[in-house]
Amino acid sequence: WAKAAGRGRYAVYDPERSARDMARAALVAGLPAALERGEFVLHYQPIVSLLEGRMLAVEALVRWDHPELGLIGPDRFIGLAEETGLIVGLGEWVLRTACRDAERWWREFPEARLVVSVNLAARQADDPAIVDTVADALATTGLPAELLQLELTESAVMGSAGEPLRSLHRLAALGVRLAVDDFGTGYSNLAYLRRLPIHCLKLAGPFVEGIRADGTDVVADHRDERIVDALVRLAHALELWVTAEAVETGVQAERLRALRCDTGQGRYFGAPAPAEAITARLRGGSAG
Ligand code: C2E
Ligand code: MG
Ligand code: MG
Ligand code: MG
Repeated sequence: WAKAAGRGRYAVYDPERSARDMARAALVAGLPAALERGEFVLHYQPIVSLLEGRMLAVEALVRWDHPELGLIGPDRFIGLAEETGLIVGLGEWVLRTACRDAERWWREFPEARLVVSVNLAARQADDPAIVDTVADALATTGLPAELLQLELTESAVMGSAGEPLRSLHRLAALGVRLAVDDFGTGYSNLAYLRRLPIHCLKLAGPFVEGIRADGTDVVADHRDERIVDALVRLAHALELWVTAEAVETGVQAERLRALRCDTGQGRYFGAPAPAEAITARLRGGSAG
């Protein structure tokens, strides 16, 4: 198949690449034991109302606390876990842990009604068993369904069969919220999404990045701002909430608020942090 790589291109031994492949293989091999040893941890990142500044939700983001390598971000192992199918076990651990933490916040700070938002990999969402898994996580932890949000990417919303996941309606019927993650980077469109039981769109970081820290736009004619404006208007016409991802500055937050974006998430509102940091923020009260 080397020929298929292109005329005039030859497979050359590349020591850097093979070192990378070996590191990758070592990480994959270590995943199941890491799950058994309890080496995964969840960090939570605030999702904040742009109008009131109140923390309405937190997104659960998994990290691997590796005994030798330290804290490893999901970008280095989620893809591998998906390819090997390990994402199912890891994803279930994430879901149960997030529901358990959220139930504790709900019990301790009932008036905050803090929602926990959990990422579902395409492979998990595509598995018909996901509905029972979610129902069981809610039942065993006692978390009210409306305090759980599930984030799916546009491609995960479209199942492997190329049509919208049948589980979506069954998940929505449980009473959980469904969000489309990284919206604007995939192929779905709003006209299509309106037929699905989706509650929220998370606008992908690059649109927000286009709104620069100094309030100007990367593109002189404010193209990214106008895209955000159009997406927010359409989303609201379809009665969807909009969360802007990767908000890094106060100027961006102010522009997004002016564009009627509902909520924001990003370093400006707080970096992902251990559960205790969220508890402390809730304890801090309305300033949260
Ligand atoms: P995502 O769901 O889009 O999560 C948001 C990512 O943006 C997180 O990266 C977060 O740390 C990062 N981020 C936070 N604030 C800022 C900011 O101000 N600017 C920018 N540019 N980025 C910011 P993280 O934690 O590395 O996660 C990366 C991706 O890994 C996530 O993207 C999600 O797709 C995946 N992931 C994380 N946890 C899980 C999980 O439990 N299950 C599954 N299936 N996927 C997960
Ligand atoms: Mg990362
Ligand atoms: Mg997400
Ligand atoms: Mg995202």
